[in-house]
Formats: sequence, structure tokens, C-alpha cells
Amino acid sequence: MHEMSVALAVVDQIETAARSRGAEGVDSVRLEVGELAGIVADSLHFCFGLACAGTVVEGAELTTRTVPGTARCAPCSRVWPVGMPPRLLCPGCGGAAVELVSGRELRIREVRWTDPAGPMAAATAPTRAPRDEPLTEKRRPCAE
Ligand SMILES: [Zn+2]
Repeated sequence: MHEMSVALAVVDQIETAARSRGAEGVDSVRLEVGELAGIVADSLHFCFGLACAGTVVEGAELTTRTVPGTARCAPCSRVWPVGMPPRLLCPGCGGAAVELVSGRELRIREVRWTDPAGPMAAATAPTRAPRDEPLTEKRRPCAE
């Protein structure tokens, strides 16, 4: 299952980061998932719950944001949302020399560490499965 390997990789990365900063728990994790990354958000939420059991990430709230796929036509520079299933011919000139601008990313956008001085209840709260929010903000260039 693709989502399971993604979830394990995410948990592994967060654990490594937690160790290097001495964090004892994680409150929440925000992921950006490209529309074309082939990841089903519900499935990822489920797998994340399994993957983080027994780790420092256990109990963290996972939120995912879908990044829409966009493509750019090399000859005419037109940019369009490719949608699902992806439309990879330029709607302007019909060209096929197309570059995917976004939509395949999988990024850990934010990790909130449990405040060691704060209430420990936060670290054992049940994992909730929030819904995907429709994407309205503009894509920012990747800073990581
Ligand atoms: Zn074009």
C-alpha cells in the first residue's frame, strides 16, 4: 500500500527530527499532498494512525492539504490546472511539450511539538481524521 510507505516515511522523518531536538511528543502534523501524487487522503490518515503507534508521533493530529496539479506549456507559457484525470495537452495551443509545475509533491509543512511544560494530555489525545480543505491559497515556492 503506497499510503503506508508514505506514512512510515513521514513518521520516520519526524522521529529523527524529534530526537535531534529532544522533543517528547508531537501535537500535530501538517502535510501538503499533491493531487497527482497518487495518495488517497483518507487512506493516508488511516495509515498514519498505524505508523505512528508506539513512536513519539503517536496521538498527533494529522492534517493534509491537497495541492492542485498545474502544468505549463513550454511553447506558449500557458499555465492551467490539469485536474483529475490529468489533462496534459495545452488548452491554448494543443501542444504536448508540457511541464508539471505542481501536484506531485509530498511535503511535511509543519510539525507542532508538544510543549514539555504543557499538559501531557495533548500527547495522548486520540488521532482525529480531519477532512481535506479545498485549496484556495496560492502556491508559494518551496522554501524547504
Ligand atoms: Zn501551449
